[in-house]
Amino acid sequence: MMKGAKESVLGAIGDTPIVKLNVVTKGVASEIYVKLEYTNPGGSVKDRLGYYLCKKAVEAGKLKPGGVIIESTSGNTGVGVAMFAAIHGYKAVFVMADKQSEEKRNNLRNYGAEVVICPTNVEPTDPRSYYSVARLLSQTIPNSIYLNQYDNPANFQCHYEWTGPEIYQQTQGDFDVYMATVGTGGTISGTGAYLKEKMPNLKVIGVDPVGSILAHYKKTGEIIPGGSYLLEGFGEDFLPENVKFDVIDDFVIVEDRESFEMTRRLLLEEAIWAGGSSGSVVVGAIRYAQKLKKPERILCIIADSGNRYTSKIYNDQWMQSKGFSVAAAHPIKNQIQDILKSKGVQL
Ligand code: PMP
Repeated sequence: MMKGAKESVLGAIGDTPIVKLNVVTKGVASEIYVKLEYTNPGGSVKDRLGYYLCKKAVEAGKLKPGGVIIESTSGNTGVGVAMFAAIHGYKAVFVMADKQSEEKRNNLRNYGAEVVICPTNVEPTDPRSYYSVARLLSQTIPNSIYLNQYDNPANFQCHYEWTGPEIYQQTQGDFDVYMATVGTGGTISGTGAYLKEKMPNLKVIGVDPVGSILAHYKKTGEIIPGGSYLLEGFGEDFLPENVKFDVIDDFVIVEDRESFEMTRRLLLEEAIWAGGSSGSVVVGAIRYAQKLKKPERILCIIADSGNRYTSKIYNDQWMQSKGFSVAAAHPIKNQIQDILKSKGVQL
């Protein structure tokens, strides 16, 4: 083995940088920092989870040579699993809801996985839901396992053992608030639980989209029917086991529009190419900061890369078709056209 090299790309997961936001936070007294999980080799925080769930399944003897790994995913956990499957020679099947971007589906197919697409707007208990289909396939395909990131305790454990200690080591606890969007709940709950043991005054704040049932449940203890929204990868219409409501102190609620528009601003103003849930967490952090009596330091998880959303958030036509605004055309555009025209250059 060459010095300084990793055994495989799986060894390159983790140790992601934390950077300060400087421009989108203008006028906010608190400091907002972001941990760039898209710098993981598969492009999201869920590389950690896919790898960890598979490793635990092998250690427990549940995932055997030649086995089939089945997972219900919004696309990101699938990439972590697909990397593990490619490197260790397993077959992977991902069951996804049809609201997830084409880029995510194709990416998984390009890793060699089989992708099954299910309708988004059906109850989780409906036999057509992506949870039900994943369960059905795992019960019928021989030598297969269903990882089930929603309820598998290894999801919490992954972030409790890995992301939490990594953040503490990087920062020595030099912040006041930890914020993340909440899907399965693994990221916020596992990381938050670890950090709270080290930092008794830490506040852990979840970010929930309008249409999800999690924030409402935290506030009232009431389970309401879920609504629809365009944001991908977080918010739920049921209560996953990995959302630990005792670790999450409170939620901030965000909307599609402000989240997508902030996602575009993150690239334009901070050069951070992230997905929609990252716009959400930053909108949530600013909203939270504006209510604080004194400035605090807020650390947010940037969950995934913008490369997953080039046909949606980073496509002007798509944004405009949904009624969202995009940046005005570059001021130099007309000048370039005039120069080319006046010199007779036709492109
Ligand atoms: N953002 C994105 C883009 C995601 O894919 C996910 C995971 N589905 C989350 C946020 C939420 O992470 P978690 O499942 O750990 O709560």
